[in-house]
Amino acid sequence: MSIASLQKLLEDFAEARDWGPAHTPKNLAMALAGEAGELVAEFQWLTEEESGRVMDDPERAEAVRLEMADVFCYLLRLAGVLGVDLDAAVREKTAINEHRFPAPR
Ligand SMILES: [Mg+2]
Repeated sequence: MSIASLQKLLEDFAEARDWGPAHTPKNLAMALAGEAGELVAEFQWLTEEESGRVMDDPERAEAVRLEMADVFCYLLRLAGVLGVDLDAAVREKTAINEHRFPAPR
């Protein structure tokens, strides 16, 4: 599914529930941060080694997968509301990072 089609899916979901008025940029940015916190909480107190095996535990793997979806959904929704082309933004940022952090060879 493309970014645009995922954004349409989320927009339709929100509109069907009259959530549009609540989906202000401020609220979506805060929700995104909250969901990022929930994702981080899945790794809290794990050792580096344990964090590398997090997907081996089916219950924790599912929690991580769903929190990642929450983060991505709010990012997609925020980009949609703000009219940000995420595909273009990622390409632009990667080009900036290639300049900032040149590959050693
Ligand atoms: Mg969540």
